[in-house]
Amino acid sequence: MARPDIHTWRSYSISDIRIIEEHLDRVDAVTFLLSRDVIYCSDDSGKTVMRVRPGYIEFPKATIPDGTPPKQDWIALSTFQPRDPDRKQPPASNQVCPNCNMQLPLSGHCDCRD
Ligand SMILES: [Zn+2]
Repeated sequence: MARPDIHTWRSYSISDIRIIEEHLDRVDAVTFLLSRDVIYCSDDSGKTVMRVRPGYIEFPKATIPDGTPPKQDWIALSTFQPRDPDRKQPPASNQVCPNCNMQLPLSGHCDCRD
């Protein structure tokens, strides 16, 4: 997909799009691949540098923005919907996917590979 397609992928607000664009610039994302419900954003070496999800964006360790609270590797967008009302953040394990370096969900199964 092309970078502008991200803007219309979900009902993002103007400020969501500003946040997404700011971080795409920051991490030098050049390739955008939609797979299931995730847009994988890669730099020119093919490394995943950011993922766009319907309600938030997330980063591998190397590109977590300065000023993000410790242990938080994601930024909520206006479309964010907690899956569990008691949890304020997407459930994740402490393990990292060996393939894309993103934090694994509690299932332990990363969705970067089908
Ligand atoms: Zn992965």
